[in-house]
Amino acid sequence: MSFRHLGLSETLLSTLSSLSYHKPTPIQRLVIPQVLMGRDVIACAQTGTGKTASFTLPIIDILHEQSAKVRMPKALILTPTRELAQQIASDVDKQAHKHAVSYAQLTGGTLMAAQEKQLKKPNHLLIATPGRLMDMAERGHVLMIGITICVIDEADMMMDMGFLKDIEKILQMLPKQRQTLLFSATMPQDIRRLATSFLHEPKELSAAPPSSATANVEHVLSLVQPRDKLSTLLTTIQQENIHSAIIFCNRKKDIDALVSQLQKQNTGATAIHGDIDQNKRYDILARFRQGQIKILVASNVMARGIDVQNLSHVINYDVPFAAEDYIHRSGRTGRAGERGRSITLATPQENTLLTAIEKLLVINTLEFQLLSSPLSLSRAQFQRYADETAEGQPARPASRAPAPAQRKQTAQLTREGGAGKGSARRRGKGKYDGRQQREGRTSQQGQPVSQRGAQQARGKSDSTDATATASTGHLPSFLTRKIPVIPS
Ligand code: AMP
Repeated sequence: MSFRHLGLSETLLSTLSSLSYHKPTPIQRLVIPQVLMGRDVIACAQTGTGKTASFTLPIIDILHEQSAKVRMPKALILTPTRELAQQIASDVDKQAHKHAVSYAQLTGGTLMAAQEKQLKKPNHLLIATPGRLMDMAERGHVLMIGITICVIDEADMMMDMGFLKDIEKILQMLPKQRQTLLFSATMPQDIRRLATSFLHEPKELSAAPPSSATANVEHVLSLVQPRDKLSTLLTTIQQENIHSAIIFCNRKKDIDALVSQLQKQNTGATAIHGDIDQNKRYDILARFRQGQIKILVASNVMARGIDVQNLSHVINYDVPFAAEDYIHRSGRTGRAGERGRSITLATPQENTLLTAIEKLLVINTLEFQLLSSPLSLSRAQFQRYADETAEGQPARPASRAPAPAQRKQTAQLTREGGAGKGSARRRGKGKYDGRQQREGRTSQQGQPVSQRGAQQARGKSDSTDATATASTGHLPSFLTRKIPVIPS
């Protein structure tokens, strides 16, 4: 099927061919005709499936026939982060260049004055994060009464970031007669409830499951003691044929520590996380896209939606707190038909988190390949240390006593029962500050962690062990062998 069959205008078809969008992706085939017919849509789709264009293309075609008004946009795209807003805006720039469709971008962390200025011009479209949009609407800088199409993008991520109440308030501000499109990678109950309350007889659509998004990706696992993580990472960087890579850490302070270690090794690594100034983040991202930065060390802020061409590697220096985040992180590589490698360095203390990811991979008929090296643990050793940890005894490598920080973290994980579900809010710990999130600031540890893992991330992240005690002397040779995943 070609784009021509979906009902898009000739002008847009010619733009698509100049962008080398030859065929619609499955989610585009499903969503575009429904949007053009004026239906509400609830779509289960991951980033990397072409979901952004599935709503931007029909919206561009619908909007360009209408006149734009000052302060009264016709369509609204709500998205959780500034980076995603920026990416949607750049997609719209490319796709709408033959249409006179104008937009304003309202995101936290940037000066309000500049955005107020944008609102004084006629705009068809608003691309916004919820907090800043509410601020602007409350101050009367933007009127929502003209909105006829509303997109809620990455709904589950917005929920994880505590935006659900804001989204409900925003939807209540919109005219009842409107079209609403809700996109989410997963469909938890809260998202379903939101859809039931605010969507009108929505068409439920689902793109291919995550497995197809990650089918081009080799999932690789290295089992190590905390003290060997850094040297294993350095070896991996040397031995892998890295074009460009994102290394994910769970905690902001670990990102900065790791970057300074990597810079000592001339790896050209740069940090990116929610505490870095907005303009600087854009600049870092632009230089990364242009190939001027080879390695980014990032928090989960980079895990979703961000599209970087030719990203050859994703490396999880920390196993992510939520298994779905693993899918999002690894989905940054292997895009647009390229092959990619997603390498995870896991310690026995992270076994609970790892098991959750392995279950998710098994569901998607994928499995980890195990990297074997002189520093790495065998599966049996790893399991033994993990079992000891779970029983409350710090895993103790035969040759060295654990560092105090490692002992503390081990005990912490045991008390918390690993990274089981349950938000900091529900457990009444680690006060959650939705305003901080809205303004682009973040949790106590400085990054927008999912609430599932928030308690672990906040206050308890005594994880200097990995960087402080890691040795850098070993340069093992890697052998890759496939092992069966052990379902638990
Ligand atoms: P998304 O899932 O929206 O993050 O899109 C992932 C990437 O696929 C982006 O770089 C898009 O520009 C690109 N893309 C979207 N639709 C198509 C298409 N039909 N053909 C080729 N590339 C596409």
